[in-house]
Amino acid sequence: MSNSPTNNDPEQNESPPLERLVRYLPGVGQHRANLFENLGIETVRDLLWYVPRDVLDLSQVSSVNELTDDRIHTIRGTIVDVDSRAISRGRTITAAVLRSDEGLIKGVWFNQPWMLRQLNNDQWVLWSAKPKFRDNRWEMSSPRLQWLDADEENARGEVLTKYGLTEGLKQNTVRSVIKTALEIAIDEIIDELPERFRVHYKLPLLGDAIKMLHQPESVEQFLEARRRLVFDEQLDFQLGLAIRRRVRKTTEIAPAITVSPKVDARIRRLFEFELIAGQEQAIAEIKEDMQQTRPMHRLLQADVGAGKTVIAIYAILATIAAGSQAVLMAPTELLARQHWDTIDQILLHSRVKRCLLTGNLTASERKETLRQIANGEIDLIIGTQAVIQKDVHYHQLGMVVIDEQHKFGVVQRARFTGTRKAPHVLVMTATPIPRSLCLTQYGDLDLSVMSDMPPGRRTVVTSRVMTPKVEQKAWSFIREKLQTGRQAYIICPYVDSDNPDDPAGAVQTFAQLSETELRGFRLGLVHGKVDREKQHNIMSRFHDRQLDALVATTVLEVGVDVPNATLMVILDAHQFGLSQLHQLRGRIGRGQFQGYCFLFSDTQNETSIERLAAMERTASGFEIAEADFELRGPGNVLGTKQSGTMPFRLTNFKRDEKILTETRRAAQRMVDAGTIDQPDFAALKNRVFERFGEQLDLPRTG
Ligand code: ADP
Ligand code: MG
Repeated sequence: MSNSPTNNDPEQNESPPLERLVRYLPGVGQHRANLFENLGIETVRDLLWYVPRDVLDLSQVSSVNELTDDRIHTIRGTIVDVDSRAISRGRTITAAVLRSDEGLIKGVWFNQPWMLRQLNNDQWVLWSAKPKFRDNRWEMSSPRLQWLDADEENARGEVLTKYGLTEGLKQNTVRSVIKTALEIAIDEIIDELPERFRVHYKLPLLGDAIKMLHQPESVEQFLEARRRLVFDEQLDFQLGLAIRRRVRKTTEIAPAITVSPKVDARIRRLFEFELIAGQEQAIAEIKEDMQQTRPMHRLLQADVGAGKTVIAIYAILATIAAGSQAVLMAPTELLARQHWDTIDQILLHSRVKRCLLTGNLTASERKETLRQIANGEIDLIIGTQAVIQKDVHYHQLGMVVIDEQHKFGVVQRARFTGTRKAPHVLVMTATPIPRSLCLTQYGDLDLSVMSDMPPGRRTVVTSRVMTPKVEQKAWSFIREKLQTGRQAYIICPYVDSDNPDDPAGAVQTFAQLSETELRGFRLGLVHGKVDREKQHNIMSRFHDRQLDALVATTVLEVGVDVPNATLMVILDAHQFGLSQLHQLRGRIGRGQFQGYCFLFSDTQNETSIERLAAMERTASGFEIAEADFELRGPGNVLGTKQSGTMPFRLTNFKRDEKILTETRRAAQRMVDAGTIDQPDFAALKNRVFERFGEQLDLPRTG
């Protein structure tokens, strides 16, 4: 690769300034261009839209008697008395005194002898640093200097932008390259937002915003500028979603399903308990949606153990009563089977024809099942992803309930073939999702939130266990409880650990516990590599109390419901995400007995320790989700390798929540009122299609 790029590459000089490559800017070159590329910056446009991570406000000038040692201050005055001297072994100290109206302050620089030449007596300057009070006077160590002209006696300090950097790239370099970019391209920036819109939402002109972003005169200017850019990014996305909703509304027709009082009563009789307020509320919302000929797209959020299955069953049976088919889809075979068992029990005396459709059927079984689904003999299909395979043709599908499938984002959503009408879709999740993520990741879903719990639930007592001694105590506690008839889960992060001495693999743990801490108790082992029939068999035995403890991997993460299991040990707990730990813990404390959860971990990692401490502190899934979000960012809250996550460059979900709400509302209003189709919004609409058309599957005519 050439190390001396020409700054006057003819092709580059002809491309529009905003699209010009950074490497051709004066003073950049190939090496720095590569560093910029690490930051995702290739063009001048990328540079201008590179939002500073933060700004440092040095603009307020303090007087000496206002100084405090808890923050950075800026002081203005003239330099008097400069001095540099050697202190031991080639080290130097340079000192100067700054005289302001209210008094003197000292500045010191260690091992920067060249400072001597930069500090001239009687020079007006601004000094910024965190001051310290020592030897009876204020002192600043290596203050940031700003030289002033004699007529700038009232000058304010600057607001310093701070960019995210990469190894080898300095703040000052980024600042000066951006300055160059501003000079050549600022006038090229076209604002696609019509003025009436900008005024209404109090947004600065785009060109002004870009300038204020990088050269703000105040922190307010910087924030105003950043708001404009984030607003644009989110507005585009929310407009895309709103347009998609409009398309759906006009093209997708669902069967309108009304629930008669008779059907309502018949469904309720199936449960041996009264529904709680949250369940009633959610059912009311779902009933309202089902009556429409427009398909329901609803997300039901409720904490682990809140009783979502009841809601699913209600929606399903109401649909079947109206003559349509219903699907219940679960993320794992284990969970699908458990739903099957629960529903089998509830529908013991009903005529609802049902089948379990998983990847585990023989070819001929599958063929027969698909035939019955296609001709409408089967009303209810419970299964895994197998229910959305291309060869599954439904007769008249009215309702799809997707359980615990928080991994389905906006982009991918189940597609169902063979059915003339679009089904109503209900997605249920026990991973509470921070509001800001709901607005984006699930931006096209209506939201129901259940925040209460069935009566009599107790908070699971959670303790971190960090030393072998405490581990012994925990095991002895567990043995005691097992002897009184309770049951336990032992959760391992791996199926098999590479190291035979490492206890964290489920296989090793099972072998070891059988010989030591849990000798004499009846243990079972389930993990992803145990074949499904056997898995189910072990689960049934555990359920029927023929096993005392179950050693398992995260196959237990969602849904499993055994009320007598009140104990849980999570080995190497730091290996799990917070939401995952919360899901796991949700398996215990479902019945009348107090639940106990032990988080074994000897991690020294601070974030991990904080995660585990959060588990001890709170039982609320919503709080845990917020904590997880803060500690690890959005991708992890939704499960790793989020294929559906929207790529936003500028938005910070936590910080920009207000903008998310604002843009969502604005977009919906613009689409409802048809504003978006007016000529002065054509450029904006175009931009929306360009950015999100493909991802959101928008038809060009939308
Ligand atoms: P999740 O929301 O985690 O899917 P489940 O639907 O599995 O929760 O319900 C957890 C437990 O609570 C189940 O044993 C269920 O029978 C019970 N349950 C659900 N609703 C109620 C209610 N209204 N009153 C009492 N128990 C309930
Ligand atoms: Mg559930």
